[in-house]
Amino acid sequence: MNTDRILIRKKLSFIPNANAFFQRLSGIDPTAVPEKYGNSVSLAHAALLDRAEAALLVRRLPILSRSEGEIHLAEGVSLSGEMPPKVLRQAEELICFVATLVGFSNESDDMMREYFIDTWGSAYIEAAQAWLAAEVQTALAKEGRMRTHLWCPGQHQFELINQRALFQLLSPEDVGCTLTKRLMMVPTKSVSGIMGIVPTGTEELLLPCDFCRFRPACPSRQHCAAL
Ligand code: SF4
Repeated sequence: MNTDRILIRKKLSFIPNANAFFQRLSGIDPTAVPEKYGNSVSLAHAALLDRAEAALLVRRLPILSRSEGEIHLAEGVSLSGEMPPKVLRQAEELICFVATLVGFSNESDDMMREYFIDTWGSAYIEAAQAWLAAEVQTALAKEGRMRTHLWCPGQHQFELINQRALFQLLSPEDVGCTLTKRLMMVPTKSVSGIMGIVPTGTEELLLPCDFCRFRPACPSRQHCAAL
């Protein structure tokens, strides 16, 4: 098994479904923008395409051992907390990743355009994550395997402290993505997570939304279930 880190750089225009993510986040269909917004949506989109690109760092690793509340991986790195052992109960390997929009900034001299650049940024980073999840699924299917749902540090019982483990394994600082003392990623349009690799047909795949207090009113629940 190749456990090396893979770096994928993608122009934003090659990431599929960003329009759908933008619509879910803003409530605006970017192909039929209401007149009151003028050309702010399209100008913000053009500005983002001009200034940012996506970088995805991915690594496939064996699970070396488990102990109570810990999953032990390569290089002395562990995932800790209640959820990782549950999510990875039937997995012998996992995929970890960080995705970020290199060059992202929502700066603009127009407040509305600034808001839409920010929303486009969120749409593209979510679309990049969804693209990666689909690619992983397709690749694993060829091996007769599948993946668990995607879990991100900060979700239910998958403590934010696990960001440190993912950063140790993936070194996203190389593409300009860093972690603050409070474990927040910079640029803000960055995501990280894990997916367990399990045999095809594995049941009881835990879904983050099933444990989330925001679930009843969350507009993203349907999207999340697909990950
Ligand atoms: S319900 Fe919404 S906020 Fe909660 S995990 Fe699912 S997508 Fe995220």
